[in-house]
Amino acid sequence: MGAVREFAPAKVNLGLRVTGRRPDGYHTLESLFVPLSLGDEITVTRTEPPGITLAVDGDPLVPDDETNLAWRAARAFLDASGATGGVALRIQKRIPAPGGLGGGSSDAGSVLRALAALEPGRVPPVRLEALALTLGADVPYFLKPVAALVEGIGEQITPVAGVAPLWLSLAHPGKTLSTPAVFAAFDAAAASGSPDSLTASDPRPTIRRLLALRGQDARTGFFDEPRAAGWTQLLGNDLESAAISLCPEVAELREEFEATQALAVGMSGSGPTVYGIYSEEEGARRAAGHIEGRTGFRTWVVRTAP
Ligand code: ATP
Repeated sequence: MGAVREFAPAKVNLGLRVTGRRPDGYHTLESLFVPLSLGDEITVTRTEPPGITLAVDGDPLVPDDETNLAWRAARAFLDASGATGGVALRIQKRIPAPGGLGGGSSDAGSVLRALAALEPGRVPPVRLEALALTLGADVPYFLKPVAALVEGIGEQITPVAGVAPLWLSLAHPGKTLSTPAVFAAFDAAAASGSPDSLTASDPRPTIRRLLALRGQDARTGFFDEPRAAGWTQLLGNDLESAAISLCPEVAELREEFEATQALAVGMSGSGPTVYGIYSEEEGARRAAGHIEGRTGFRTWVVRTAP
């Protein structure tokens, strides 16, 4: 009945601001999402027998049942499309989970893309986007993972052209850090008036503002080597202090990355993945070797995807 293979890229957040909290409890964010060369591989096959099967290779901690976001994406698509038959999924995991790299969300987005290709016209694009958002805030982004400013709770996506190719060195401390726990720590700090909280006056420019400056004048660009100060401004992540309160290794990794030749250092999403940005592959590789030697944590050298 047809099969599609999809590459499910990881994303990195080049800066993240928490801009508010809605009455329903969801936080609104502003972040520059950029897809990476690191990703999972997914095979999506339509089957005659109804129901969904799932096999996961490469990470024994990722569930292979109906709690897997890829499984839930397939279920949601079948229900919305009214298509008969079922879906067989196979995932080769390469994105560390949980890492703040959007692994589960990317798998879900890939499954929706694959099923939309296998069943053209059954679920209109607007409905597919709404479906994606019911699965998770980051899933709509992964319907079309290109460099983009992501706002709201993840549903406002504005592609950003001209992000120069970059090399990144990623490091993960091998500890689990749940996104809800990080937001709970962020809220607790906000309630006590910590400097990262929403109540404090934030002197940092918004990411939209930084990107607009870049657009007006190429010389104030943030994406090349002489602009490291601009990078550092852009890369601030409002969730970093909360992540450090739960996982002090994030602070250790930042310190180690800052001792390398990184243009700038950031934490992706809600962590605990920390990264350094380099203009050349060699710099990223040297940094990865330094971090592994100093901490014993796992590292990846990756490129931003075109
Ligand atoms: P984000 O950056 O979107 O917050 P993350 O990188 O922090 O995501 P995920 O990779 O999505 O986190 O994994 C979070 C948890 O979700 C995992 O620990 C796992 O139990 C569960 N999970 C469900 N489906 C998947 C999947 N397809 N891949 C990885 N984890 C999944």
